[in-house]
Amino acid sequence: MSIRKQITELLTEKECDARMISQQLGISEKEAYDHLPHIIRSVSAMGKTLIVSAPRCMNCGYEFKTRKRISKPGRCPVCKKERIEPPGFRIE
Ligand SMILES: [Zn+2]
Repeated sequence: MSIRKQITELLTEKECDARMISQQLGISEKEAYDHLPHIIRSVSAMGKTLIVSAPRCMNCGYEFKTRKRISKPGRCPVCKKERIEPPGFRIE
């Protein structure tokens, strides 16, 4: 089974962030982020949606809701801290 198929199955079962994907499938977090745009397209072709939860600042609670990119933000625009909870992904 291809990595993309495995990620698709994983995200259908439960919401995961890139770290969880990387640990489950033995790939790097960067690879997980690289696969996601392709998976978004392939699941929409199957009539499903990959839902991205907003990354959130663990310091002040700021949510990166307007972000279009699916990677993890570097730091919070409000408090400037770098403790960011990464975006979560699930397929419905
Ligand atoms: Zn913050």
